[in-house]
Amino acid sequence: MTDLTRLTAAEVADLVASGGTSAVEVTQAHLDRIAAVDDRVNAFLHVDTEGALAAARAVDERRVAGEELGPLAGVPVAVKDVLTTKGVPTTVGSKILEGWRPPYDSTLVQRLRAAGTVMLGKTNMDEFAMGSSTEYSAYGPTHNPWDLSRIPGGSGGGSAAALAAYEAPLAIGSDTGGSIRQPGAVTGTVGAKPTYGGTSRYGLVAFSSSLDTPGPCARTVLDAALLHQVIGGHDPRDSTSIPQPVPDVVGAAKLGATGDLTGVKLGVVTEFTGEGAEPGVMAAFRESVEALAKLGAEIVEVSCPHFKYALPAYYLIAPSECSSNLARFDGVRFGLRTGDDGNRSLEEVMSLTREAGFGPEVKRRIMIGTYALSSGYYDAYYGQAQKVRTLITRDFTSAFEQVDALISPTTPFVAFPIGARTSDPYQMYLADLFTIPTNLYGGPAISVPCGLSDGLPVGLQIMAPTMADDRMYRVAAALESTVGTFTPPAL
Ligand code: GLN
Repeated sequence: MTDLTRLTAAEVADLVASGGTSAVEVTQAHLDRIAAVDDRVNAFLHVDTEGALAAARAVDERRVAGEELGPLAGVPVAVKDVLTTKGVPTTVGSKILEGWRPPYDSTLVQRLRAAGTVMLGKTNMDEFAMGSSTEYSAYGPTHNPWDLSRIPGGSGGGSAAALAAYEAPLAIGSDTGGSIRQPGAVTGTVGAKPTYGGTSRYGLVAFSSSLDTPGPCARTVLDAALLHQVIGGHDPRDSTSIPQPVPDVVGAAKLGATGDLTGVKLGVVTEFTGEGAEPGVMAAFRESVEALAKLGAEIVEVSCPHFKYALPAYYLIAPSECSSNLARFDGVRFGLRTGDDGNRSLEEVMSLTREAGFGPEVKRRIMIGTYALSSGYYDAYYGQAQKVRTLITRDFTSAFEQVDALISPTTPFVAFPIGARTSDPYQMYLADLFTIPTNLYGGPAISVPCGLSDGLPVGLQIMAPTMADDRMYRVAAALESTVGTFTPPAL
């Protein structure tokens, strides 16, 4: 019998549509797999068994009634716990929201439901999406299915690990500085950050609103594109949503899969090929660049001189926005309330709640951001960082006058051992060295597996101009057609 958990999302959808299997059977197979492995992986914070089976039954009934099913009907999906789900716990990996059941669905989740996908549950993440390893989750770390003693990346490590462990064929992540792409890279899966505003932030718990971008995670490029198509597009409930249709990402992935990149010009970012990356990562990257050239792509070097300032600029802008966004967690409106014994003032209760509810990394960011935004320092820190952001955008604009897309390794290093970087925040921040520029600019970028280093996955990043998301899918699918996909050792 076919192991339904090993199929791609496209295969599952075809099988369900043709009646070769039922959505209930597919869902049950994934629930069984979660039950068998998730005590070791810890990808899920909440498994919605009843909700998933009910959604699957509804798909099966619609099929039997002869109704037309969407392209992903009956396909299970794991959702990062940063998106609100009506009646289903949403914690953002934080104690401060423990037990909170949102009264509404985020736009992405609404679209997933409307498309007939089956939500299995909510995945683990660094608290408030701040981190690069999922070790900052208040609910314990997620383990990388390639090596359970290593991190699965972050902040969306739960979603990436769920894919690599065959607990779900599709997942949703959110990318503020790399949290879809970096976990994708270190788990050997595909992760795409859409153009900022190309996917709705309505119901996405805010970290840094000018950067936050929800997006698709999958084991193949086509699956990521199919999911992107379903979740993307204009949403009047998000004022920064772009009022344009989703670029034809599915068509582009299919075109790329033919393995022909004739006429495509790719720029290797000079600043990302020198120091800072592990030799094994650079070796896998260089081999992939050669593979892309063999497919017909023209490869040139492009200098983006301001990319080296992206990390420091991000670590002022993101904490500044977070210090403002997280003010709403005050013990009054949502989740945890501590010290409300009738004798304490409102301010004392707020302070005790925030002290008990937020973890150390979240507190660090709130403090950095509050400082950077304070009246005496605003121009020196936040103002300067915004100017750097403009220079980085100009680097991208000028690069895209020379090439169709930029390429680099996704991360400087492969999955590191759990505990190796938690004592030094800067070492953790370095994980996003190559992913952050794109967030500051707002364009799309994808990470696609490109090889192994010491038996651990390496990702290649493709960055494209804003609203040219289709371009990165074409290149990613072409690379996948030659390097293949990567399967971790059996759990
Ligand atoms: N690792 C980065 C950070 O800690 C990015 C996180 C993200 O993309 N959500 O801020």
